Amino acid sequence: MSTPDLLIVGSGLFGLTIAERAVAEHGAKVTLIDRRPHLGGNAYSEADPVTGIEVHKYGAHLFHTSNPRVWEYVNGFTDFTGYRHTVYTTHQGVVYPMPINLGTVNQFFRAAYTPDEARALITEQAGELAGTDPENLDEKGISLIGRPLYEAFIKNYTGKQWQTDPKELPASIISRLPVRYTYNNRYFNDTHEGLPTQGYTAWLERMADNPNIEVQLETDYFDASQPLNKDAVRGNIPVVYTGPIDRYFDYQQGELGWRTIDLETEHLEVGDFQGTSVMNYADAEVPYTRIIEPRHFHPERDYPTDRTVIQREYSRFAESGDEPYYPINSGSDRETLLAYRELADAEPRTLFGGRLGTYQYLDMHMAIGSALSMADNKLPDLLRA
Ligand code: FAD
Ligand code: UDP
Repeated sequence: MSTPDLLIVGSGLFGLTIAERAVAEHGAKVTLIDRRPHLGGNAYSEADPVTGIEVHKYGAHLFHTSNPRVWEYVNGFTDFTGYRHTVYTTHQGVVYPMPINLGTVNQFFRAAYTPDEARALITEQAGELAGTDPENLDEKGISLIGRPLYEAFIKNYTGKQWQTDPKELPASIISRLPVRYTYNNRYFNDTHEGLPTQGYTAWLERMADNPNIEVQLETDYFDASQPLNKDAVRGNIPVVYTGPIDRYFDYQQGELGWRTIDLETEHLEVGDFQGTSVMNYADAEVPYTRIIEPRHFHPERDYPTDRTVIQREYSRFAESGDEPYYPINSGSDRETLLAYRELADAEPRTLFGGRLGTYQYLDMHMAIGSALSMADNKLPDLLRA
């Protein structure tokens, strides 16, 4: 194996975008390593062995963007279906549309308010804490949408997701909690939305499908027994690293906090379990936050009509060995991150990117957009160095 011009650690959308650009724009020879047995990072999906239904292995992934450059870029690798995401939530045995909109408000209050009437009601209910400065998520929620809607749809769901009483969570988590005064219940507001027509994996594999990109799976950057390991590579070959930033530095400044999710898969002998792709569970008595039924992501496909697969999603703090999913970003996490950023800036011939490498929650279009910026602004110097 010859030495690559660029080593990329992690084959998620960030690493794949850098690999594709390095080859297309600089004619570089790239090696892309990933410790998992498949490429694509968390966007990876596969056919469920029992039903053939495409299942998102690391949690439901919906593609949406308002960034024209990202939309044009991704369309170079896949077509997108016309899927438009909607979410429902179950509270006390009744199903309501989310995010909170005129349909939710009217169903909840058993009313037929016009937009103006609903707005006046919510303003009045939100006035309960008028004149005070919200000190935690609980107070902030009430001051934004009023106590009845907050307690029904937000309080317990958020508590389950963070495993923390909302009175203990910072108000900043829900600085914006929209109520729509129309019946529009589309989940995303972006210009472009859809799911890859032939599935996520076909899209992700196409990005790496080039003779100048060599993919090595089940290869960990920190495994000294594989040739392209950190000790052998550092300072000698240009590297884009998209794994966890704290792991890179052996946790010398402490561990960053993450939430993870557990997905419990179940097969059922019915053609349709819940009639929609995502059903949230707003109440504290139900231990999971939501149920995903992946068949509804692709109504255009010919899936079996007598069987389905569902995933119950549970949220919890990540412990060592768990997959890090959502940055917790507490005050002490932010201090730790600053210390790691200083170390990262001083690393020879190494750039840090992606959601793990920067400790930031990034949607797919943000990960791709940020990789395109790195390819524009930093990659030329890295490859020359
Ligand atoms: P990742 O996809 O995490 O890729 C990083 C890769 O690095 C992994 O494959 C990992 O195995 C590899 N790696 C780490 N350490 C090493 C090492 N030491 N050696 C070798 N390889 C290593 N985005 C949306 O736009 N819409 C959604 O609906 C959506 N839903 C999501 C739901 C969940 C539960 C989660 C967690 C994320 C969701 N996202 C969604 C975000 C999306 O997953 C990210 O935008 C995307 O994964 C970012 O890509 P990345 O390359 O930065 O990271
Ligand atoms: N949220 C909520 N009830 C819901 C859906 C969302 O309280 O039914 C709140 C919750 O605090 C959550 C945040 O809104 O953390 C963002 O939700 P979203 O579903 O967009 O986030 P995801 O978990 O999919 O990243």
